[in-house]
Order: sequence, then structure tokens, then C-alpha cells
Amino acid sequence: MIKTDIVIIGAGIMGLAVARELHHRHPGLRIILLEKEDTFGHHASGRNSGILHAGFYYAPDSLKAKFTVEGNRLLTEYCLQHNLSINRCGKLVVAKDEEELKGIYELKNRGDKNGVHLQLIDELELSQLDPNAKTHCKAIYSPTTSVVNPKEVLSQIATGFNNSVSILYNEKFIQRKDAHSIVTNKNTIQYKHLINCAGLYADKIGHQYGVGKHYALIPFKGLYLEYKDRNLIQKHIYPVPNLKNPFLGVHFTKMADGRVKIGPTAIPALWRENYQGLSRFNLGEFIEIFRYETKLFLRNSFNFRDLAFTEIKKYYKKYFIKQAAHLVKKLEEDKFGDYLTPGIRAQLLDTRTMKLEMDFVVEQEDTSTHVLNAVSPAFTSSFSFGKCIADKAERVMKM
Ligand SMILES: Cc1cc2nc3c(=O)[nH]c(=O)nc-3n(C[C@H](O)[C@H](O)[C@H](O)COP(=O)(O)OP(=O)(O)OC[C@H]3O[C@@H](n4cnc5c(N)ncnc54)[C@H](O)[C@@H]3O)c2cc1C
Repeated sequence: MIKTDIVIIGAGIMGLAVARELHHRHPGLRIILLEKEDTFGHHASGRNSGILHAGFYYAPDSLKAKFTVEGNRLLTEYCLQHNLSINRCGKLVVAKDEEELKGIYELKNRGDKNGVHLQLIDELELSQLDPNAKTHCKAIYSPTTSVVNPKEVLSQIATGFNNSVSILYNEKFIQRKDAHSIVTNKNTIQYKHLINCAGLYADKIGHQYGVGKHYALIPFKGLYLEYKDRNLIQKHIYPVPNLKNPFLGVHFTKMADGRVKIGPTAIPALWRENYQGLSRFNLGEFIEIFRYETKLFLRNSFNFRDLAFTEIKKYYKKYFIKQAAHLVKKLEEDKFGDYLTPGIRAQLLDTRTMKLEMDFVVEQEDTSTHVLNAVSPAFTSSFSFGKCIADKAERVMKM
């Protein structure tokens, strides 16, 4: 039997950020971080685009807007302070046609409301910032969007604990035993408060505590292709997204080391860790997810039918490339290399309305706090979002 004050499930960016925040506030607090894999960041946190978003996509009263603006600033400071790679090249959002131009104005409007510095620029100004970027009349320039190496950030946080937070690897939460203890694959752990940051499994763990019962996680797979010419673009180049769903569309990212990639896709996956082939296949998950996806398809909730068809076509490399081709003036197809490490988004579905949750979701009961929808941009938001989770945990623990 292990005894601790706080047990956190999941050593992704959220679990690490919450542990870091609680440790800073209460250096004497005993904190255990459980991770089922043999290292941190094995899932979304180590497989994302590494973009520190500026915060202009999100509805002004949302948690995403609040935590992204602050999170961008906090993580930028952290990277600079610890000499971690950060490329502060900025980002462009470009329009394809008259219809998308309306989206450019809407994004500028959201940016203004969220207090994000953005510039509305014309085609000439665009070509001065990035000669290869292409738009219809106007574009958005976001100077505070930058890119980091996610694994480097995770590693800095994990090693920065200096054993003051114990990270137990290969330690999987199996079940809740009672209000103050859980069973893992190796131990029974007794705690005062539990914080669930389990990413793709956060809903399942939450259900054991009676929270988030009307939610289920639907996995969406993000594929990337490398472009073997670092000089293709000078800034990240994004399309105007459909603001009714949480995905930003296939875009060009300049990685922290200067390499260029396109992606990610948002292909509905069939089980939670459905990265490649049949690896980590789980029949129970397959049946549950297939049932939800079929329901979404038949009801066509949030235009899921179109989304599914368009996204599945992206398994075909030429079609995938075509999605990014309109963002730039010149692109050579033979310069695309292999697929890079894919990532899977843990997107929460409200099973009552059959709609995707657009904002972060956190639920609590007496002895536990559950982070149920830490979707993009939770990497950017993590330090700010982590403070909010720490506040909530302190409140119920009366600290
Ligand atoms: C393709 C892609 C691109 C993205 N791009 C960006 C971006 O550019 N910028 C941005 O800000 N965000 C981006 N995101 C979103 C971001 O990566 C996620 O929001 C964030 O990483 C979520 O962190 P997390 O800690 O909640 O989840 P995770 O990283 O999934 O961590 C959860 C951890 O819990 C562990 N776990 C699960 N179950 C158990 C259990 N039973 N016992 C013990 N441990 C368990 C898992 O092994 C995992 O390590 C992207 C995501 C994807 C998939």
C-alpha cells in the first residue's frame, strides 16, 4: 500500500503541468504521477504539432480562449528561461475564396475580443512576410504563434521535479477501490485527492467516479507528411477553419528545428490508440466507438458524414497533399517524404446531443478532479489550465 496526498493519472502535458503547479504551491505535498507507458508523452502530448497557439480561434467566453492566451505567454517564458527550442516565426491564416474571406474577418474579430494581437494584411504584405503564401484579398498574421519541440518541453518538466514528484512508469490505473484508494496493475494507492489527466482514457476513469456519464471519447487520427525543403515557407500557413468543428484543417507547420510538415488530418479512428494497423486493437472499444460513429454518420450530426468522407480520403497521399496545395504558390509533389509519427485527438462527444464538446471540460466530485476534454490547444494552454485544475483541487481539499 502506497500513501500519498495527491495522485495524478497520466504523464502527458496536463498531468505534468498540474503536478508542477501543485508542487510550486505546496513544496511539501506528496504527489504521485501514474503513467501506464514506460515514459512521459507517449500519446497526444508527444505527438502533436508543437504549435503555441495565440488564442484567436476560440469563442471569447470560452476556457480555451482564456487559457490559450495566458498559456502561450507562460510556455514561451518557460522555454526561454530553460533554453528550450522555440521558433517564434509567427503564423499566417489565408483564404481560398470570397466565402473564406468572411472567416478571416470573423477570426480577426475573435482575436480582438480575446485580446490577441493580430494584423489583417493584404496580398502585398503577405508576400513580404512569406513570398510563397497565397490568399484571396486578405490574410491574418499572428506574430505570437510559435512552435516548440513538445518532447523537449515534457522532458524539462519531468526532470525539473528532482524526485520531489514521484513518476511511476508502467503503472496503470485499473480501478477505484473506494473514495480514497485505487488499484493499479502493481499497487494499491491511498490518497487524499485524485486528478485524472488520462487523455484518451479520461472518460472511462471519470465514469468510475460517477462523473461525465453522458460523455464518451471519440478518437480522431492526425497524420503528417514531411516536406523535404525547409525553405518552402517562412511562417506557419493555415487555412480558414470551419469554426463549427474543433479541427483547424491541414496546414503547413515549420517545426522547431526548421523542418516543414503538412497535417494533421482528423480521421475518425476505430479504437483509442489506433495509430497503425491493428496495434493496440481493443474489441470492446472498437464496438463502442463504431456504434457512436455509425450514429453520428446516420444522424449527420455536425456534418459528420462530410467530415468522415473528406478525412478518410486523406489516407490517399495525393488527396492529402491537395488539401494543403492551395495555401502556397509553389509546391513540388516529389518533395513530400514519408508519414511522420501520427497523433490521436481525444475528442469528447456529448452522447445526449451527439455533438462534439468544443471547450475544455473539467468535472469534480468530493475526492477527485477529472480533465475530460483536454483537446487542442491543451498543449499551449497547459500551464494556465494546470493552474485552474490546481485551484479546483485546492478548493475541494480546503487547502
Ligand atoms: C495530431 C495532434 C496535433 C496537435 N497539435 C497541437 C498543437 O499544435 N498545439 C497544441 O497546443 N495542442 C495540440 N494538440 C493537442 C495536444 O497535444 C493535447 O491537447 C494534449 O497533449 C493533451 O494532453 P493530455 O496530457 O491531456 O493527454 P495525453 O498526452 O494523451 O496524456 C495522457 C496520459 O495518460 C496516460 N494514461 C491513460 N490511461 C492511463 C491509465 N489507466 N493509467 C495510467 N496512465 C494512463 C497515457 O498513457 C498518457 O501518457 C494536438 C493533438 C494532436 C493529436
